[in-house]
Amino acid sequence: MTNQDIIRWLGLIADTLHENAQYLTELDSAIGDADHGTNMERGFTAVRAKLPAMEAMDMAGSLRTVGSTLVSTVGGASGPLYGTAFLRAGGVLTGKESLTPADLVAMLDAFLGGIVARGKAHPGEKTMIDALTPALASAKEALAEGASLAVVSTRAASAAEEGMKATIPMLATKGRASYLAERSIGHQDPGATSSWLILRSLAVVCAQP
Ligand code: ADP
Ligand code: MG
Repeated sequence: MTNQDIIRWLGLIADTLHENAQYLTELDSAIGDADHGTNMERGFTAVRAKLPAMEAMDMAGSLRTVGSTLVSTVGGASGPLYGTAFLRAGGVLTGKESLTPADLVAMLDAFLGGIVARGKAHPGEKTMIDALTPALASAKEALAEGASLAVVSTRAASAAEEGMKATIPMLATKGRASYLAERSIGHQDPGATSSWLILRSLAVVCAQP
């Protein structure tokens, strides 16, 4: 996997978030302020406009560009959270020309670390980290078994999907959904859903070299 594949991944995220914008906003209308789809689509439309310029960058530069673009274009909580995630993901790939399975795990680790550093959420609080934490754990397990990029990313995406579904019965204690207290129970977290879509897109790109 090279910078070209990172660019394919970012393009697929932009397509996927465009297709799912209404779905994400519906999820956010149940426990938030009905803007998560709009926020993510706005951010990745701005990222899409920068894909041609990323051709001249390396993987680290492309991911850092995503981070700064999300921070500057997305108004909601998800902008700085995903922005920090992509900035840190780029940081760990500095100087690398291609991505190994170990680099992929380091990238996911930094991605999640950025969200935790920024949002101070813990697992079980009904946020994006409830998709990303099991995804990282599964990716690490797969790496330890010597799995390929395709397998590591697929296992991460499956675990993210499980983690996303597991947010349904959770009580939100971080972000806007926490204002609803018990009424947040029974709804899937929008941010956990966008995190799953981002990792599913990565698995698709890793499976089609
Ligand atoms: P806003 O809440 O400002 O309207 P969005 O609707 O774009 O922003 O994003 C909402 C999502 O952000 C939530 O579904 C949740 O997953 C995530 N989120 C909110 N606060 C935090 C936090 N402190 N840590 C991690 N994720 C968070
Ligand atoms: Mg919102």
